[in-house]
Amino acid sequence: MSHVMNTYSRLPVAFTHGQGVWLWDAQGKRYLDALGGIAVNTLGHAHPKLVKTLAAQAGKLIHTSNIYQITEQENLADKLAAISGMDKVFFCNSGCEANEAAIKIARLYAKSKGVENPAIVVMEKAFHGRTLATLSATGSRKVHAGFEPLVSGFVRVPYDDLEAVRQVAQNNRNVVAVLVEPIQGEGGINLAHFEYLRGLRQICDEYQWLLMLDEIQCGLGRTGKWFYYQYAGFLPDVVTLAKGLAGGVPIGACLAKGAAAEAFKPGNHGSTFGGNPFACAAALTTLEVIEQEKLLDNAVKVGDFIRVALGAALANATGVVAIRAMGLMPRIEFDRPCAELTQRALDAGLLINVTADKVVRLLPALSMNRDEAQQLVDRLSILILDFLGQTAPAH
Ligand SMILES: *Cc1c(COP(=O)(O)O)cnc(C)c1O
Repeated sequence: MSHVMNTYSRLPVAFTHGQGVWLWDAQGKRYLDALGGIAVNTLGHAHPKLVKTLAAQAGKLIHTSNIYQITEQENLADKLAAISGMDKVFFCNSGCEANEAAIKIARLYAKSKGVENPAIVVMEKAFHGRTLATLSATGSRKVHAGFEPLVSGFVRVPYDDLEAVRQVAQNNRNVVAVLVEPIQGEGGINLAHFEYLRGLRQICDEYQWLLMLDEIQCGLGRTGKWFYYQYAGFLPDVVTLAKGLAGGVPIGACLAKGAAAEAFKPGNHGSTFGGNPFACAAALTTLEVIEQEKLLDNAVKVGDFIRVALGAALANATGVVAIRAMGLMPRIEFDRPCAELTQRALDAGLLINVTADKVVRLLPALSMNRDEAQQLVDRLSILILDFLGQTAPAH
């Protein structure tokens, strides 16, 4: 009997080591990792530059405290500000903590405007984390169930629906912010239209709301730009990051601009581990390697290749509703539940994930190359055709 709490229904495999997009289990079986620890292993496994940084940093300093200055944290904040256009960064250890910081910023911002009972607009099918405030912001009954009473102060609207947000703006004087994923990850890789995001920016300007983007899954190069909002061509007030930021070392970050960047004063917020030298050194190297190895371009090229090649391989498959990919965030939607594909893929030495019941999602390392992508497409298309009860066309 395991003494680990029963929070995940785990697949029956444990890995011993990895290299790039490959993982091995104790029996020596090799797996192609198309999930990257759910968008965490940005550089793949055991990237030599990251390994070197971690070893060197551990030999110097792992942790001091936020009651002292931390050079690595200063440097990382500079770098994040430069690539994002934001002014200031708060560091924590996970995505939900980054969103907690954003929610607390919105509440302080509200008080500064004289709004005593503030509300934040959030979306149906959103996922923002598992703490009480972030699960309350999350748009899934499954995530809420059993944890009531939920944290109040959230107003929920349909995703990608500007009119719904306008309605709220006209009717609710307590709203001070919008919290939204530009691409919904757990919700099924749903992309917001650029027009919608620009419209949100306009509404937020008009009503002096904070536009807070959760880019924890879609940010940091996955779509081919550092941040998805950079495609839409505006700056948000708050951006939250975590998953891929330090290549697997736990970290979270809440980036803010303007009034939002000035909301916290000493005593308002904090984190013991947040922004420690080890995590920040890991993040600095991760960002550096993304630039050196041109992984933003790679995400677009390899993502496009996967989309086109999968599209061709599954062109005649009935049961596939849509194949899309914005950079290395491909999704394959089916007309039926497809959860069993995860185990079938594992048996075939391929790591994928199913979300929102009917969507296969791939979140591989940004360093995945063409040849590895071809192997992914070959293996996955055979699995899918088999799952749908159809056979692969003869070559
Ligand atoms: C994973 C995720 C979170 C939560 O991050 P944790 O590190 O698990 O707390 C929040 N928002 C989005 C969009 C995510 O994908």
